[in-house]
Amino acid sequence: MEKILFRSTNFQSGLVTFKDAILKGQAPDYGLYVPTTLPHFTHKDILNFSMMEYYEVAFEIIKHFVCDFIPEKDLLKICQQAYNFPVPVKQIDENHFILYLDKGPTASFKDFAARFLARIMSYIATREGINLTVVVATSGDTGGAVAHAFLGLDNIRVIVLFPEKEISIRQRKQMTTLGKNIKAVAVKGTFDDCQALVKRAFNDPVLKHKNLTSANSINFGRLLPQSVYYFKAYVEIKRDDLVFSVPSGNFGNLMGGVLAREMGVPVKKFIVAVNENNEFPEFLKTGVYQPVVPSKKCSSNAMNVGHPSNLARLIDLYGGWLTDERDQNGNVIKKGVMKRQPDIELMRKHFISFSISDDEVDRTIKYIYEKYHIIIEPHGAVSIAAAIKANINHPVCCLETADPAKFPEKIKEVLNIEPPVPETLAHLDFLEEQFTVIENDYQQLVDIII
Ligand SMILES: *Cc1c(COP(=O)(O)O)cnc(C)c1O
Repeated sequence: MEKILFRSTNFQSGLVTFKDAILKGQAPDYGLYVPTTLPHFTHKDILNFSMMEYYEVAFEIIKHFVCDFIPEKDLLKICQQAYNFPVPVKQIDENHFILYLDKGPTASFKDFAARFLARIMSYIATREGINLTVVVATSGDTGGAVAHAFLGLDNIRVIVLFPEKEISIRQRKQMTTLGKNIKAVAVKGTFDDCQALVKRAFNDPVLKHKNLTSANSINFGRLLPQSVYYFKAYVEIKRDDLVFSVPSGNFGNLMGGVLAREMGVPVKKFIVAVNENNEFPEFLKTGVYQPVVPSKKCSSNAMNVGHPSNLARLIDLYGGWLTDERDQNGNVIKKGVMKRQPDIELMRKHFISFSISDDEVDRTIKYIYEKYHIIIEPHGAVSIAAAIKANINHPVCCLETADPAKFPEKIKEVLNIEPPVPETLAHLDFLEEQFTVIENDYQQLVDIII
């Protein structure tokens, strides 16, 4: 197997291996790491995946990226431990499918990335005898999934930042009830503020000795495992003109799909389903990129992102260059500047994108329940609403990214029923919370890290 190297989307940092891309998270030039080559799976390779367990498919794909530093038997064990839950596909009518990514221990699709990344990082830290501090900003689900995935590992400390007022109680409890090596921090600000604080910490020389590492969706180690379920869904549905409708916030899930396509999965199109943060559908339509600042607060709160971090990777793949403008100290002066336009005609062939309002989300939850007796939650509803809007004559696989029980107030309001609570969430109600509240102030974060 050929060793895969990574470059930065800003072109000012050197090539690195998968291991360094994971440990650094972000490139020193503030760009995102992207692979310079990818393995290719033939149609026959992919069809063979239908006979395998999920974790075996994960192993077959991921081994190409880590062959230089993790022996195959160790990687297989990591995949087996990370993916010990089901990943069902449900056909709801002739042309519509739901891929359930919410059966992991924190009932969100973030488990796919977090459980893999945690194990890889712990593997590296243990082998190299170092201590790592994982700092992560969450718009809802990442924090819980990451915290849960790292809980109890000796050589890793996790600091998780969340916007005080933008997450649900269950989402908060998934971070604040763990204790041990997990520290939860509520920021008086938006998710974008949290993300900006974290990004700044990574480039702060004062914190260098703390071995900061990111588990955010800027980390390539988060993207790679998210390509696996696209392979699995494809072999399960087995339709060659398959379209995926992806509920998108930071576009990590979408980039997982794009990677899968680049590695050989025949994807007809991606429907990029966003909430009222409509910067991407507007960009596809007009060719002008304008971040939504501040991001809008919608019921699909894990998607309240006005400037998706992974968009830089997507734009890069289509020959463009999207970056932030910074001063000499690395502070962002202007977010999301399109320095070079991508091949937008090609992007329009590969993607369609819809912005779904909160009203449409409610109507979709209602419609799906009445028509199919299925309870969906706001994020999945954004993907289904967009699939309905797209009205295309191809099979569409919609991604359900969280369990409805994470949004009981919303389900109650719209359907007037209590969603059944999976065991993984039920026990949270009885645990005590512990967290620190800070202003949107960088110094306060530094004090916590030190
Ligand atoms: C994070 C998240 C999303 C958005 O995924 P991105 O990779 O950020 O685009 C969608 N749904 C849920 C439930 C999430 O937690």
